Amino acid sequence: MKIGVLGGGQLGRMMALAGYPLGLQFRFFDKSAGAPASQVAEFHTGDFNDERAIECFAAGLDLVTYEFENVPSSAARFLSRRIGQFFPPPGALEMAQDRYVQKQFFQRLGVPTPLFQAVGTREELQQAVELTGFPAVLKTRRWGYDGKGQAVLREPSDLDRAWDSMGGTALILEGFVKFEREVSLIAVMSKSRASVFYPLTENRHREGILRVSLAPAQGIDPYVQLLAERYARSIFQELQYTGVLTIEFFYIDGKLLANEMATRVHNSGHWTIEGADTSQFENHLRAITDLPLGSTVARGASAMVNFIGSVPDISLVLSMPGAHLHLYGKAPRPGRKLGHVTLCAPDYGTLKKSLETLQNFADC
Ligand code: AMP
Repeated sequence: MKIGVLGGGQLGRMMALAGYPLGLQFRFFDKSAGAPASQVAEFHTGDFNDERAIECFAAGLDLVTYEFENVPSSAARFLSRRIGQFFPPPGALEMAQDRYVQKQFFQRLGVPTPLFQAVGTREELQQAVELTGFPAVLKTRRWGYDGKGQAVLREPSDLDRAWDSMGGTALILEGFVKFEREVSLIAVMSKSRASVFYPLTENRHREGILRVSLAPAQGIDPYVQLLAERYARSIFQELQYTGVLTIEFFYIDGKLLANEMATRVHNSGHWTIEGADTSQFENHLRAITDLPLGSTVARGASAMVNFIGSVPDISLVLSMPGAHLHLYGKAPRPGRKLGHVTLCAPDYGTLKKSLETLQNFADC
């Protein structure tokens, strides 16, 4: 079976590496010729809006998925019609591309969110801040990732500055959540409507970028895990979803507030490659090709540390027991995710010591 993947970044590369043992073949589409997946699979380069390039990409494919949420919906709809097998469905992708539409969707399903309001004009920004109060977070509704396209508003004088730099695009203002922790749920729904869920992962961000994920998240009441799974189930049902879905939450006072969802495999699920019985990448492929889903049980405790902007001395990384290195084949650039390491340990105490050792020579 040949699977087409829109986007050729590290997520796609890890997907292909998980799919080869299942006998799957891959073809990627990306605008950048040297993207990480180009080193491991057949690769087409082109513009997502170029229908002829997309048509050529589609020839001979059995199924299409994506690893990149900014795929234009025209390309998704075209491929869905052309191949008949496009997962997760184009409607889910479109919904997830707009933070405001996404939050309205959460609200409709009874999934709690931070306070939010759409902002299109300077007056609407003023009205929205009257709802949220300070601090608040102003975000672009579309195309933002890794904290890009965001500004924290702390006092009335911040409004003009934020409007000058972000005004003119469709925006959303959110109340700033003084969360205790950020957690995410990786959930999987197969074509046969079987679902599995990974244990909640704790995520630590700096400057809007994920730095470290710890799994399973410690000290989370089992009820909270079940609550997250209930939210995911209602999203699956509403969207007729197939594949991996990631929901990022703020955890506060034993409650979950949904920040955003990604209709794809996710950075906070990288630990599952070595830290769980079945990786998120394999389970995504099993889900969309209608194979039985694999166990999501965690093997001890894991920490995933992203290498951002630079890679530490890999001899030092590999000298650590339980360290699993993943480099993505990307040229270094500030703020760019170049690779990650997953530290696996039998228990949290051992994992904590391992992380302390890593901190001696890596930024985490
Ligand atoms: P996002 O791109 O929405 O995932 O935001 C990136 C990061 O910014 C999040 O993981 C949080 O650490 C922080 N952040 C985003 N929205 C809020 C909010 N409403 N309140 C507090 N922190 C936020």
